[in-house]
Amino acid sequence: MKAIYEQLASEAVEIQEEIIKLRRGFHENPELSFEVGETGRTCASYCQNLGFAVERCCAELLGMDKYGVIATIRPDLEGKSIALRAEMDALPIQEQTELSFCSRKQNIAHLCGHDAHCAMLLGAARILSNHKDAFKRPVQLIFQPSEETLSGAKKVVDEGFLANVGEIYGLHVHPRLKIGKLGWRSDALMASPDELSIIITGKGGHAAMPHLCVDPIPIAAEIILSLQTLISRKTDPLDSAVISICMLKASDAVNVIPEKAELQGTIRSFSATVRDFLHREITNMAGFIAKAHGAVAKVDIIKGSPVLTNDSERAKELSEIFNALCDTKVFKSLNGGAIQMAPIMGSEDFSYYLEQVKGAFAFLGAGDGREDAPGFHSSSFMLDERALPLGSALLAAVALTRASC
Ligand SMILES: [Zn+2]
Ligand SMILES: [Zn+2]
Repeated sequence: MKAIYEQLASEAVEIQEEIIKLRRGFHENPELSFEVGETGRTCASYCQNLGFAVERCCAELLGMDKYGVIATIRPDLEGKSIALRAEMDALPIQEQTELSFCSRKQNIAHLCGHDAHCAMLLGAARILSNHKDAFKRPVQLIFQPSEETLSGAKKVVDEGFLANVGEIYGLHVHPRLKIGKLGWRSDALMASPDELSIIITGKGGHAAMPHLCVDPIPIAAEIILSLQTLISRKTDPLDSAVISICMLKASDAVNVIPEKAELQGTIRSFSATVRDFLHREITNMAGFIAKAHGAVAKVDIIKGSPVLTNDSERAKELSEIFNALCDTKVFKSLNGGAIQMAPIMGSEDFSYYLEQVKGAFAFLGAGDGREDAPGFHSSSFMLDERALPLGSALLAAVALTRASC
């Protein structure tokens, strides 16, 4: 297998200027989650020119001639396909870098690296098209909109595009992981994010006469503090979870006790058991505390994406392929290799795919190793473009390895 990795690595390096040009094009023209029109057209026409069968996805979610792209190579082959996924959307943030190809749009920028993901996947498409005769089953590329709203992947699944997929892989560039590294994990890598809203209804009135009111504000304060005991006292210390109350709305005046107080926040966990436990206990705790004070608490929890759980064998093979690529002549100078990484409390809607089929998601190093480098969604997020050909080579190599066996 060694020779094929040498081959794929040098093919990736041969087209690195093209991959970087594609990335800079996406970077200059960023589009928000539901607005990926130009990005969709670029990905579709690039894959069409390479002879892929191209279909549109998420068109209903986006509307007005905007769509995600499903591009399949060798659709004539039987068997479940190997899928690779890239996200397409940018963020509603003003970019503050000095890059020559900085975002041309006000308050919209690629500050999570999804521009790099599309470019790496297009690079992988070009490499794979050189090897399509070796395939024994199809390879399906997914250019997915709306990752930042955690809604695109679910839509792709709901539209049936995973029905014929056997395995799926995805990479995310990481600005704090050194170039040449792959951060992988054999099990749960990212948390489930759920939105929490609690509305406490008491009885409003004059601030000078609290005894004639049911003040929802101290009740809200008591609920906020008590919820933390669900993490510190009720959850196994070896099971990670977070409850953060980030919004608190009550009265608009200094001398008015409001009728209602509203809390909003996020719940993160790493297992379905802990997740269900927290949902149940938050509802009970808020309800009982409010009742004890003569108020009512209405609790709403909107479930976000599931815990992102890698398949151990698929993740291990991805890391081994990465190590083989790092050993090739063209990438050896990066001095790279795969490292097991700790789980992170952030979320990714790739988890919807991993709920359906086996696969792996990993972080591709694109930084200089500084731990304080601007992180994801920072206005000065930057990445080392030398990661791009390595990412394209890895995507192509895992797809080719799995589709030809
Ligand atoms: Zn992001
Ligand atoms: Zn992202």
